[in-house]
Amino acid sequence: MKAEAIAFDFDGTLIKGGLDKAVHIMYSSWVACYECGFRGFLHPDKIDVDMDRIVRAFVLYPGAPRFQQLAAIVNSLINDRQRAAEDPAELGINKELEQRYSGVRKRYNELFSALNDAAAEKYWRPFPSAKEILSILSTEYELYIASGVTQDILEHDFDHHGFDRSLFNDILGANMKGGSDKGYILKQIKEKGYTDMLFVGDSNKDLEYAAVAGVKFFRIREDSDYKRLLEALSRGMPDEKKSWSFTQQEMELFYAKTIPLLKRYIDGAPMSMEAITDLINE
Ligand SMILES: [Mg+2]
Repeated sequence: MKAEAIAFDFDGTLIKGGLDKAVHIMYSSWVACYECGFRGFLHPDKIDVDMDRIVRAFVLYPGAPRFQQLAAIVNSLINDRQRAAEDPAELGINKELEQRYSGVRKRYNELFSALNDAAAEKYWRPFPSAKEILSILSTEYELYIASGVTQDILEHDFDHHGFDRSLFNDILGANMKGGSDKGYILKQIKEKGYTDMLFVGDSNKDLEYAAVAGVKFFRIREDSDYKRLLEALSRGMPDEKKSWSFTQQEMELFYAKTIPLLKRYIDGAPMSMEAITDLINE
């Protein structure tokens, strides 16, 4: 066994596409609320009001599990409170609506998955340098994937994008019930007895998971970060401890991409999943 390990998050880290996902979440949450009984809380004629509430909630949960992001957005749309309510009873709505919340979750999940599939098909690709850097690192470090995506989808995507399984000690995703989050996975790896361990990820949430597991962290935003990672490792294991917020440009993109999609939907002419992903990536 090599002395040190490096674990990589998958989506947004080895594969590009982090900001697309944010738009998918925003669109899917609003449409699911509109279609599944929560229309009375929305402002289709003043979509900016809802968009502000969606964004305020989303920015507090970047990289969090999809249903936690939904819970924060729904609470924000209903109550202008941005905390992810674990239980619909915390939303201060009547019993009938509480029961309808499972329908919102189901519809949101369908839409979000369909949008992700359409984007993955056409746009989401590995960062150009990722495979080469993995191959270089595998000679010195034991490599892992630690992802919040469920195991079956993770392995499918890993193979689909042509990553080499032989470079990795293990490929670890979440279980089907949504348990075993990245913090837990990282801890399991660390407990194998490595002298040092690094988690390479793309979200603030990844930084938190690394802290929870007591491992170091390095952030990937763009392809050049892979070269930066290699250089940093030549001086010892890096550890980036500072969290970050979305840039002004990223915030503007959320509005610029999501509002036209919602307006088309409200006008009764929703775009196909393919058209949506084209618009986001144009
Ligand atoms: Mg990620």
